[in-house]
Amino acid sequence: MLKIDNLANEVAGKPILKGLSLTINAGEIHAIMGPNGAGKSTLAYTLGGRPGYEVTGGSVDFEGADLLAMEPHERAAAGLFLGFQYPVEIPGVSNVQFLREALNAQRKSRGEAPLSGGEFLKLAKEKAGLLRMDMEMLKRPVNVGFSGGEKKRAEMVQMGILDPRLAILDETDSGLDIDALRICGEGINAIMRKPDKAVLLITHYQRLLDYVKPDFVHVLVGGRIVRSGGAELALELEENGYEAVAA
Ligand code: ADP
Ligand code: MG
Ligand code: MG
Repeated sequence: MLKIDNLANEVAGKPILKGLSLTINAGEIHAIMGPNGAGKSTLAYTLGGRPGYEVTGGSVDFEGADLLAMEPHERAAAGLFLGFQYPVEIPGVSNVQFLREALNAQRKSRGEAPLSGGEFLKLAKEKAGLLRMDMEMLKRPVNVGFSGGEKKRAEMVQMGILDPRLAILDETDSGLDIDALRICGEGINAIMRKPDKAVLLITHYQRLLDYVKPDFVHVLVGGRIVRSGGAELALELEENGYEAVAA
């Protein structure tokens, strides 16, 4: 599904990713762990096509297409979803409006008819239920006045509605209490643990991985993957720290 080969980039003239390679097949859940400043968010932004993240080498193949040649909205329409460490607030636009626009924009670029208001609300209700989110919350402006946990749950509802092939989730667990962590974890499993989908979970703590069991764990340090293993590697990291494991 995703083949990252020797990816290198620069942010503000500074090299961050330094030859990162990673292959993700359909049906797999991968976790990337690493210390602060390792380049985890930079990887997510670069795959999403954020301006300012300049690719200086390597390639990324997404379902047979050159991901790096695509505009951000084309990447989304092709089935890539990015969940952010710091979700933005959009005053004056309700979650329902925002989600319906986002979904219909993607459907349009795939040549599919837009969903009617009624069809959309039915879908939104189903996905909100997976995240135990009240529809009343989804009628409020995007993320305005939401707690950290509510923002992340709203983002997982968005993921459910957009129904991506590949989700890249950057520190979805940051700022979550135990209950919200479990609800988000269960939501990720319900939406994404399918034979034709894949997930790249970025985290520096092991705890989300108690709920979303990764098939592979990779350690990112200094812009490169320095070690890969199975789910047990996350426990080893938690126990011994990144320095010991990356050495
Ligand atoms: P992580 O998510 O692993 O904590 P980041 O990808 O956020 O790490 O950052 C990796 C490195 O890139 C850090 O050294 C950070 O200071 C640098 N960096 C990230 N964004 C910018 C930016 N906009 N301008 C300059 N340096 C940046
Ligand atoms: Mg960080
Ligand atoms: Mg980060």
